[in-house]
Amino acid sequence: MIKNNSLDALRIGIDLGGTKIEGIVLRGEAEVVQRLRIATPAMQYQATIAAVAGLVRDLEQAAGKSGLPVGIGHPGAISPASGRIKNANSTCLNDQPLRQDLEHALGRTVRMANDADCLALSEAFDGAAAGARSAFAVILGTGVGGGLVVQGGLLAGPNAIAGEWGHNPLPWPRPEWGESPGPLCWHGLHGCIETWLSGPGLAADHARTTGEKLSAETIVSRAESGETQAAATLARYEDRLARALAHVINLVDPEVIVLGGGVSRVQRLYRQVPALWAPWVFSDRVATILRPALHGDSSGVLGAARLPPVTPPKPP
Ligand SMILES: [Zn+2]
Repeated sequence: MIKNNSLDALRIGIDLGGTKIEGIVLRGEAEVVQRLRIATPAMQYQATIAAVAGLVRDLEQAAGKSGLPVGIGHPGAISPASGRIKNANSTCLNDQPLRQDLEHALGRTVRMANDADCLALSEAFDGAAAGARSAFAVILGTGVGGGLVVQGGLLAGPNAIAGEWGHNPLPWPRPEWGESPGPLCWHGLHGCIETWLSGPGLAADHARTTGEKLSAETIVSRAESGETQAAATLARYEDRLARALAHVINLVDPEVIVLGGGVSRVQRLYRQVPALWAPWVFSDRVATILRPALHGDSSGVLGAARLPPVTPPKPP
């Protein structure tokens, strides 16, 4: 039998998240042959570098092969101006030379992209947006991020922020819901989408309204069992998500919007939000499809493994 090397090729994908670091070894395009998950050292930069390096070592040991290509999905973006991380909600990464430090620790060049971009890439490849000409993928998790895929490729601009929708203001604010000016975001502006639509944002809105400090997960499960105050919090969340996504539809008009991250597991979002976004979309009808990430929590790590090799930037 003739062996096709590209089909057998092994690659490592790492999803560096705020609470966990997940790693896989991918064989060919879609076969996950190893998977490991560890907790992210809380707000400790050097320990995070060591944890990623240790995870890569463990994955290579399990796969019986070393020196594999490594793709890493991470919060925020690498500033084209400084080479350092910017915009990460895991703020211990900000202003750090993450690529340089990881390459030093791993002894090889690494492929890196924003975590929402990895989600977008994976879901457009063989997930909820497979076959779509354009897709917007969103992470609704510890933070809120977005990525745009057009014709199967990531949209990447000169500021490395394409799809970074979480730090736009929540559109069409409702003052009666305390939305103007809205909560202070970690980088100093008020009313960012992330302060409303992240898991902690959902919990904070519930606490402000009811005085009850509950996790996003508990609020959702209470809402689903009919508890009035939790149901009202989830309804406000859906209304906000509908307005925030209508803004994206008006700008990009993607065929599919894919939701990932912890809050994306709430099944009623996929019924309620498209029923709520119509008044805000500048169109007589809205054909955009809203879907959960087909690969769920694994989408980020799959997209990271499939990141293309780094090519030197061309001057404009
Ligand atoms: Zn913000």
